[in-house]
Amino acid sequence: MTSVPGEPCELEDCVVVGAGAAGFLAALFAGREGARPLLLESRAKPGAKIRISGGGRCNVLPSVATLDDFQTSGSRNALRNLFSTWPLERVREFFERELGLALYVEPETGKLFPRSDDAGEVLERLLAAARDAGARLQCDWRLGRLEPVAPLERRETGLASDGARFVLVADDGRELLARRVILATGGASVPKTGSDGRGFEIARELGHTLVPTHPALVPLFSADPRFAELAGIALRVRLRAVRAGAESRVLEEREDALLFTHKGFSGPVVLDLSRHVTAPDARGVKLVAHWLGERRADYDELLRSGGKKTVGGVLREELPRRLVALLCARAAVDPEARTSELSRDKRFALVRELVDCELPISGDDGYRSAEVTAGGVALDELVTKTLESRRAPGLYCCGEIVDVTGRIGGFNFLWAWVSGRLAGISAARSL
Ligand SMILES: Cc1cc2nc3c(=O)[nH]c(=O)nc-3n(C[C@H](O)[C@H](O)[C@H](O)COP(=O)(O)OP(=O)(O)OC[C@H]3O[C@@H](n4cnc5c(N)ncnc54)[C@H](O)[C@@H]3O)c2cc1C
Repeated sequence: MTSVPGEPCELEDCVVVGAGAAGFLAALFAGREGARPLLLESRAKPGAKIRISGGGRCNVLPSVATLDDFQTSGSRNALRNLFSTWPLERVREFFERELGLALYVEPETGKLFPRSDDAGEVLERLLAAARDAGARLQCDWRLGRLEPVAPLERRETGLASDGARFVLVADDGRELLARRVILATGGASVPKTGSDGRGFEIARELGHTLVPTHPALVPLFSADPRFAELAGIALRVRLRAVRAGAESRVLEEREDALLFTHKGFSGPVVLDLSRHVTAPDARGVKLVAHWLGERRADYDELLRSGGKKTVGGVLREELPRRLVALLCARAAVDPEARTSELSRDKRFALVRELVDCELPISGDDGYRSAEVTAGGVALDELVTKTLESRRAPGLYCCGEIVDVTGRIGGFNFLWAWVSGRLAGISAARSL
């Protein structure tokens, strides 16, 4: 085996594939454990997603996190144990004290950002810390194939004595041997950043089951063009994802800002719940809004006690004018009618639009703009204590490639940092 024809193939102790959030932490902590890791990156520069994250400000962490902020098809217990390996306060200390990255909490959202509001600073500090720990970065090296070296082959070629377990083959034919490999290739969202879903295929080729992947934290499209006329309006809503059917069930309910766009719906509450309608088993799932208004009005009471006021006049005290007009149109109620003139049926129809409004969803913006990919390498196929693969010993998985997805608000980076660190330490200690 040769790296380029005629040259001997390099043998590495620990190769980390993917220089993103999880890969940096894996390389940094493997380095601190003395492994001198090699960090491979397909693009010309590392950390593209860190650079664009949080609108260029990088929401490094949440200020509070619970298990409910994460989704996995795997065991909740395993997830709890994974997060307990590096509690949020310790992660924050790592960034502030060890990387010297000053952070502040955005009061309205509880999100933590670098004081510089510059995602580039986060990346620079990670790069410097990984280098200080002895990690070497190799860009323009895209992993195309990862092949385990069979025990018999290892004996025949003498590789058993040096412990080589994997051959890494780049797209351009270069090859490497490695004792340990950490797969930190991310998901499939925003593929121009380098995370294009190839890592999922590599994991599958090594025997892993993939929990079906789909875009998450993604803006949704409206099937009713009238909603496009509300573009630019943002307001607080209580949004529910409901599975309709004989036994209608609320899958998730959250309260936060919704933003109307030219194509449909966005804003934190829509992004958080979007995974329910993008999932492969989303048939029959709908998103239902309760428009909260300034004072969280009891709309039925408001409409019954409005007297000579017009319906529109009463509702406009609570909700934006254009939204009121649309909800009245959907309920076939004239906004200029006096509230006292509203029939019971009309009032019920309008209240339903106000507190039980099914958003007409026609699709989503896909991986082009999804902040994360839900699904991925099944958590149950990784050893919880180490993140080592149960399918290919010597392989470790961390970050978005694994079937763990966070809410909006720094939770996905939290998962990437925690899982990256654990994979790095575990791989290095197993050498
Ligand atoms: C626009 C946007 C904004 C976001 N903002 C936030 C935020 O503010 N806070 C937050 O918590 N989360 C945010 N996220 C989500 C967060 O960025 C990701 O969850 C996180 O980056 C995942 O880290 P990762 O290391 O697993 O994968 P990535 O960061 O995607 O890194 C994977 C790396 O692997 C490389 N790679 C892929 N395949 C190969 C291969 N075959 N060979 C070699 N290298 C390969 C890629 O080029 C990439 O550099 C945002 C996402 C997007 C798209």
